[in-house]
Amino acid sequence: MTTLEDCRALDAQDALRPLRDQFTLPEGVIYLDGNSLGVLPTAAPARIAEVVTQEWGQGLIRSWNTASWFDLPQRLGDKVARLIGAAPGEVVCTDSTSVNLYKVLFAALSQQKDTGRKLVVSERSNFPTDLYIAESLCRERGFTLKLIEAGELQGPGSVLTDEVAVLMLTHVNYRTGAMHDMKAITAAAHAAGALTVWDLAHSAGAVPVALNDSNADYAIGCGYKYLNGGPGAPAFAWVHTRHAGKFEQPLSGWWGHAAPFEFTPHYRPAPGVGRYLCGTQPIVALAGLECGLDTVLAAEAFDKDQGAMAALRAKSLALTDLFIELVEERCAGQGLSLVTPREHAQRGSQVCLSRGEGAYAIVQALIARGVIGDYRAGDSQMPDILRFGFTPLYLGFEDVWNSVEHLVQVLESGEWKREEFNRKNAVT
Ligand SMILES: *Cc1c(COP(=O)(O)O)cnc(C)c1O
Repeated sequence: MTTLEDCRALDAQDALRPLRDQFTLPEGVIYLDGNSLGVLPTAAPARIAEVVTQEWGQGLIRSWNTASWFDLPQRLGDKVARLIGAAPGEVVCTDSTSVNLYKVLFAALSQQKDTGRKLVVSERSNFPTDLYIAESLCRERGFTLKLIEAGELQGPGSVLTDEVAVLMLTHVNYRTGAMHDMKAITAAAHAAGALTVWDLAHSAGAVPVALNDSNADYAIGCGYKYLNGGPGAPAFAWVHTRHAGKFEQPLSGWWGHAAPFEFTPHYRPAPGVGRYLCGTQPIVALAGLECGLDTVLAAEAFDKDQGAMAALRAKSLALTDLFIELVEERCAGQGLSLVTPREHAQRGSQVCLSRGEGAYAIVQALIARGVIGDYRAGDSQMPDILRFGFTPLYLGFEDVWNSVEHLVQVLESGEWKREEFNRKNAVT
């Protein structure tokens, strides 16, 4: 059994510990929600203030050139590329995840439009915005969205028939923390003649991703979760080079034009991923995102060969393993079940527990104690979920101990039954 002293010893031996100094965290908070909104990089307020007061205030319109505003989406895209197994020039940071999904799914469907394939396959448990975007695009473009249950991809009688145009999956499930085998699934999809669209919202900055090695087709991801880019930070989009230069971008704005400042009357798409840009980019928000990206890239110093995510992954698994071990030992008989897979190859950087009763209120009681996780409603397949994200950049082993200690106290005391913890807020 792991003790508090063991956890302290693990922190003392943890080479990644100094990475925590990059963040400004409130006193007395154990933040287990970096999967929903990452924390504030200490460098961000000053950098954002500099962009506002100097680059905007003093540089004015000159800053598009003098402060390199113009190529910021590509420059940050190159930083994201280092975290997702992509190459420089293959990624842009722009727009929201939802909007980027619209663009890449449109592109994938356009590629398949003459093949007679009519299905877009996704999982019923996918994040709703992904399903909503797919639903409307399918309606507009004459495709049908087919939703499958988790696990149906692997089983016999595969859903990957010759009717499937696009397989659209989220790599790490937002509720369960279960992770797909991107390489194997992409290979199976390609063997069946389908293209793949991967949502990396819970993967970028959370787990190693190897887009090129997996031979994936399209990917998008979120800037404000594990990448610490700030609320509503720009998201990113990637396309494999074999499609770059060919794919159709439905939002053909001037920023995706090959030569926007020629002001010609007709659209000519930029070569490669640059055509994913639509209109004028949010420079202040991009500056915040860069601060967040730099906090993750700082981990490159700890694994010079394999990069930041290899270094972070080892600690992430150690943290989630410890949390699972402590919950199972210390909360036994309290009605909690582990939802997240135990196998490392199938686990993201979060641990989800389900409980038939009180999941929302237990999370609220924990938040009142400074342990911030979140709640996601269950469905016919699964009871309500308590969700805990583990970000190795700023969490330590003693934090894991303390969060489980609070969970034990909340459960054993019945504190969560108090009325104040059972009133639902607008944002859960
Ligand atoms: C968080 C998340 C999003 C968020 O989309 P926004 O456009 O930023 O609101 C989309 N997809 C998945 C899978 C997510 O986890």
